[in-house]
Amino acid sequence: MNNLELLPQWFIVLYVVLLGLCTGSFLNVVILRGLKGEGIVFKRSYCPKCNNQLKWYMNIPLLSYLFLGGKCAFCKDKISIQYPFVEFITATAFLFIYFSFGLTLKTLFLCIIFALFIAMCVTDFKETVIIDIHAYILLGVGLLYSYLKLGDINIVQALIGAGFGFLIFEVLARLGKIFCGCRMFGEGDSLIALGLGAIFGWKNLLIIIALSILIQGLCAIPILIVQSFKNKNKKLAFSYMFVFFAIILLFIFNQIELINNYLLYSASTTVLTVFMLWSLKNILAEIRNKKLDDSKCEEEKFNLMPFGPALLISATICIFFINEIKECALSFFI
Ligand SMILES: [Zn+2]
Repeated sequence: MNNLELLPQWFIVLYVVLLGLCTGSFLNVVILRGLKGEGIVFKRSYCPKCNNQLKWYMNIPLLSYLFLGGKCAFCKDKISIQYPFVEFITATAFLFIYFSFGLTLKTLFLCIIFALFIAMCVTDFKETVIIDIHAYILLGVGLLYSYLKLGDINIVQALIGAGFGFLIFEVLARLGKIFCGCRMFGEGDSLIALGLGAIFGWKNLLIIIALSILIQGLCAIPILIVQSFKNKNKKLAFSYMFVFFAIILLFIFNQIELINNYLLYSASTTVLTVFMLWSLKNILAEIRNKKLDDSKCEEEKFNLMPFGPALLISATICIFFINEIKECALSFFI
């Protein structure tokens, strides 16, 4: 490591960025072929539309997309924005990981873990699928990461965390089945939690889950509001709207330290809680009304948005800011 640290900073930064771009490019192949159920090695890159093999200069991360103007050189079909996006985000993340943890084994592991996050995020987002092998590799890498004591936990805690992660999502998913007639989470989410548990341990996994529910809520609720208005279900739309604003209001109350004025604080939170319960009652009633059976669950995409991306985004946030988030959560409840 010492020899590497003698290299000029700009050289390492350039190297990390290039490594990130190439990894992103490779991830695009992994994602595309994973979704098609094809192997990864021994096959040159091709256009998914016209199947023409790409020349080497059409395969340069980011640059090719830019100078081809986002179109395939053969069939002029639009190239998905996913390709440059994955390359860009991977390079940015690698750089961020390097700046946070330096030239260390931890950095190497975190880059691999983040690459797996990206692959799972995109497959889940595109086709609500988590490819099993991605999840099992994440579990393996996570266990090794904890075995080498690169994270906050040891191997025993990692094994417990993995089991806990898988179980809690299976339990929640089945509770959904009892209350709404649908699995609340897909099987893929349990597999993601299995790997995350091995990296973070069960305590931090709980924080990740809480954060991901918040992220998911803030993204999904606006869509639900618009949908309810379209379906002329105003009561439901207002219920969703209220849950949305209650979350934001509670956060603001907390930030402006309304907490110091005890009377005002308890009055406002009581009002919020009452409305929140009313809203939740309406939402639950609506879900029960639908009485979705399993086949309908699949069709109606009951989950609206897959939960995996929210889970992986909050895991990424927790890699860097776990202590800040813990402090913020504590200040919220105490
Ligand atoms: Zn083409």
